[in-house]
Amino acid sequence: MSRWAKYIDSDPFKIIGETADKLQLETFVIGGFVRDKILNRGEAKDIDFVCKGSGIELAQAVAKALPGKPKVQVFKNFGTAMIKHNELELEFVGARKESYRANSRKPLVEDGSLEDDQKRRDFTINALAISLNEKNWGELIDPFGGLEDLENKILRTPLNPDQTYFDDPLRMMRAVRFASQLNFSIEEESFKALSRNAERLKIISKERISDELNKIILSKIPSKGFKILFNTQLLHQFFPQMVALHGVETRNGKSHKDNFYHTLEVLDNISKETDNLWLRWAAILHDIAKPPTKKFEPGIGWTFHGHEFLGSKMTTKIFRQLKLPMNEKMKYVQKLVKLHLRPIALVKEEVTDSAIRRLLFEAGDNIGDLMTLCNADITSKNEMRKKRYRDNFKKVQEKIKSVEERDHVKNFQPPVDGELIMKTFRIKPGREIGILKNAIKEAILEGEIPNEFEPAYQYMIEKAKDLNLSPVNTNKSN
Ligand code: ATP
Ligand code: MG
Repeated sequence: MSRWAKYIDSDPFKIIGETADKLQLETFVIGGFVRDKILNRGEAKDIDFVCKGSGIELAQAVAKALPGKPKVQVFKNFGTAMIKHNELELEFVGARKESYRANSRKPLVEDGSLEDDQKRRDFTINALAISLNEKNWGELIDPFGGLEDLENKILRTPLNPDQTYFDDPLRMMRAVRFASQLNFSIEEESFKALSRNAERLKIISKERISDELNKIILSKIPSKGFKILFNTQLLHQFFPQMVALHGVETRNGKSHKDNFYHTLEVLDNISKETDNLWLRWAAILHDIAKPPTKKFEPGIGWTFHGHEFLGSKMTTKIFRQLKLPMNEKMKYVQKLVKLHLRPIALVKEEVTDSAIRRLLFEAGDNIGDLMTLCNADITSKNEMRKKRYRDNFKKVQEKIKSVEERDHVKNFQPPVDGELIMKTFRIKPGREIGILKNAIKEAILEGEIPNEFEPAYQYMIEKAKDLNLSPVNTNKSN
């Protein structure tokens, strides 16, 4: 058995090979599947097949031969077809040759040889093909040295990189994504071509850019991808707010830190703790408003007053700009950006329980994620200082835990609700209800009364006097 046959020694390759032989179509598995098998990287979700002839015809015959005879989804315009088989998506295409026009990602396509097809792929490591026909079952077809590049961890384009990136600028984002995700380096000429073609990224939709960006963010050490994006000026094309974090200014001998590299350090830190994409996004955006809030105040130094509030506003704009979801994910990121300084502030002074209750109330169920973000935000070149901060921070964490255990304000539900207020004073919905509810909430957060029904009820009766209300109905059950 050839060295490569072990990768295809399973369902559904046998059936596809047999079907291809019946139709006399030279057929190969190609692309990400082959790459990831050789790299020993997880289980495949999508597998790409290419044949010399009609991919659609092959797919239709394969579907008939597969158990359960799954449906074929045909994309006539693209000449491709897809079959869902178990957990897998099998993609079929006929080998093609492509030529591009300057103003579009959409190429002119004609039938071609396997090598033509491999040439149009983005990287040599994504152009590796393994034959499925009986006559050369398991043979690796590698005309561009993809295997060697895999071994040396190098991203190289099969054709001239300027051509490859100009033709389809999304490949530039894919280059950075693979570099970050696989921890590969981008071959030198290719790297230069990224800088030369960066502006071409403008013709790519924001959705596709963000898909790749999110994969960069989810890689093990995301700073790797961001540094390449910055150094090639790709980042400048779609995320200028992050570029603006870069740089250091000095006045009267005082410098502030470079917030771009600080942000990347926070992002790498948090990535050790969580795979939550949106928490990682919060790390990227936590200081995003530092440039527009930056001031040099004589006697004080550099300040960034209110950057957490402006940052939370900018989050909406950036999500819209990058076509990220404008839903509860965005709200979650906003909240973390807005609150990111609060736990740190609790480190500094003698903290009151009420300050902790307020933070718990505002953060709610996201308190844990907020603490993860703040912990990641502790970056300093001075190891002693970092340790002192971390130790203090641990104490805050413990305090938060004990206050929550005692007062249960994290998922604060008012112990006295609007219904009971209306019934007690026989009043209609109106501003008094809001005033009383808020007074009770404040009293609980301030620690004047415990978070319990009876004291809250008595407090309401007292407070109502200020509004000239007296109880009419003292039946407390609601
Ligand atoms: P993953 O599935 O992990 O995202 P992949 O390399 O499999 O990575 P797909 O989008 O599934 O990416 O594409 C499958 C194959 O199609 C790639 O391996 C590559 O050969 C080719 N390909 C995909 N996108 C492009 C592109 N923009 N330009 C050239 N070839 C591409
Ligand atoms: Mg794939």
